[in-house]
Amino acid sequence: MSKYTGSRCRLCRRQGVKLFLKGPRCYTDKCAFERRPFAPGIHKGGRRKLSGYGLQLREKQRVRFIYGITERQFENYFERATRMPGVTGENLLSLLERRLDNVIFRLGLSDSRIEARQIVSHGHVKVNGERVNIPSYLVEEGDVIELSDSGKENGKIKEILEEKESVPTPGWLEFDKNSLQGKILRNPRREDIDYPVQEQLIVEFYSK
Ligand code: SF4
Repeated sequence: MSKYTGSRCRLCRRQGVKLFLKGPRCYTDKCAFERRPFAPGIHKGGRRKLSGYGLQLREKQRVRFIYGITERQFENYFERATRMPGVTGENLLSLLERRLDNVIFRLGLSDSRIEARQIVSHGHVKVNGERVNIPSYLVEEGDVIELSDSGKENGKIKEILEEKESVPTPGWLEFDKNSLQGKILRNPRREDIDYPVQEQLIVEFYSK
């Protein structure tokens, strides 16, 4: 399935939850979900009750939309998660968090994961001193993430860094504001996931 190119706010309204896909706008009263907290095409109060399968599908779609990836990519992550030791649902979330575009977002170098993906694909990021322009690149413990020279000169990134004086960095990451370097301290764990998700429903979805 190809990448979704429609309205991101529509995804939130369809899912019935804020997915925070538009950066700062999501925290203002311009948020479409705040203004119209009902599914698109359905009148207020018209959200229908979901079946068990519907709930599983919705959970999978929510997580997929949050990371902005295709169905095929999501399936591949799930497959990989099943082959890892430990709990499949937690492995899945950990893999998604380790994507380089997500790491850029978590380090506070972008307002959203979509913006982070652009920063990576435009060659503004280095991993262990080498330029990496693949948003799905999976970081490893000990990796050092930094902006390339073009990244340091990028007006939008400079603006974000100036505005975000105290972005909390998740416990599995470290960020030095002076050198603009991030480090992967360890793999992300379940407790590092900061959005509500019932990953067991996703496991059930794929276990049919
Ligand atoms: Fe979702 Fe609101 Fe952000 Fe739009 S502005 S993406 S509706 S959270």
